[in-house]
Amino acid sequence: MSDTATTPSSPDTLRARAAELDAAHASTDRRDAFLLPEGVIYLDGNSLGALSVAARDATANAVSRQWGEQLIRAWNESSWWSAPERVGDRIAELVGAPAGSVVVGDSTTVSLYKAVHSAARLRPGRSVVLTDPDSFPTDVHVTRGVCDQLGLTLELVSPGDAVARLDGSDDVALASYSQVDYRTGELWDLAAITSAAHDAGALACWDLCHSAGVVEVGLTAGGADFAVGCGYKYLSGGPGAPAFIFVAPEHIAAFTNPILGWNGHATPFAMSPEHVPADGITRARVGTPPVLGIAALEGALTAYDGLDVADVRRRSLSLTAFFVECLDGLGIDLPVVTPRDESRGSQVSLRHPDAYAVVQALIARGVIGDFREPDIVRLGFAPLYLSHADVLAAAVHLRDVVDGREFERAEFATRAAVT
Ligand SMILES: *Cc1c(COP(=O)(O)O)cnc(C)c1O
Repeated sequence: MSDTATTPSSPDTLRARAAELDAAHASTDRRDAFLLPEGVIYLDGNSLGALSVAARDATANAVSRQWGEQLIRAWNESSWWSAPERVGDRIAELVGAPAGSVVVGDSTTVSLYKAVHSAARLRPGRSVVLTDPDSFPTDVHVTRGVCDQLGLTLELVSPGDAVARLDGSDDVALASYSQVDYRTGELWDLAAITSAAHDAGALACWDLCHSAGVVEVGLTAGGADFAVGCGYKYLSGGPGAPAFIFVAPEHIAAFTNPILGWNGHATPFAMSPEHVPADGITRARVGTPPVLGIAALEGALTAYDGLDVADVRRRSLSLTAFFVECLDGLGIDLPVVTPRDESRGSQVSLRHPDAYAVVQALIARGVIGDFREPDIVRLGFAPLYLSHADVLAAAVHLRDVVDGREFERAEFATRAAVT
């Protein structure tokens, strides 16, 4: 990375460098698999991943042929019933987990509820659950709700302090953290925190919303007990796509779903009033899965066919490093919140006192990123469909918006409901 670069580079030098990097990373370029509108540089794939040809076609097929023609027969003929496990297995490969340990179907919020609730109950007699005060709010809300319901104490400890908090302790049931901070992009050490939790007799649950599909998550390698993650961010499953839950194989037999629904039953069509949990990860299911959403997600995941996540991660690190190199090279003097070393996910967050207006001005130029409270310009670099040439073009737009004070225009000050 160009931490030390202080001399501005000419745009021509940066353009040549972009071409060189794009050639070096050609094997992970999946731009043609995606349907981005002309003139848009999409830096928000970490909020809503772009539509792919395969996701569009899979959705159309699920609607027209499966729903339209097969009707109720599609539950068997198009394997709707087993889709949560089938798509879960594909995601398992991306996050370093074995087949049979991941299932999709509910939102991240509901999946996290199931994971945190069941994990905390696997450590009876322990009273504390740790989570990050700076987590995405739903994570704090859900964890607090579970603690209230189970009579546990929620302790807000930054992931950077978690190992020290766990060291020598005997009161923690569960440490629940995001692998990548949604706001700053910081990548936390999943293996180190998990191992500290285990040494203290606790379990570890990981939220992979900002790491699945772009980081070598390594759930098994890192010893993670539980995990959840989002389907509509880097995985590009579409708005409201189902999320996933991972339960480590050694915990599945003891996993008690806090929402006992008929889809998690051993024999759902026996229509029995007794609840007998299914063997395997199926017990993490709840009710009828969102079939159309799963179809879109399953189509979207084919963008990863033939790719190794390690190569996607290398491309991601190169794109984000090059963006910081462009900031330095073009003399864009905004504080970079995201770590410049490799402890980052696939985003670069910058601070600007008028961050909201800066984002609006960028969007008006076709560079779509997002704003996060209080002063963060958050730019996500979805590696499969962004090039180093896009990165440079985005940086040039940012320079023009900031240096030309374009963000001061009145039209960029009004906030919409979704920022
Ligand atoms: C995006 C995100 C969520 C979203 O949860 P939903 O239930 O899909 O609304 C939750 N947690 C984190 C860390 C996220 O980044």
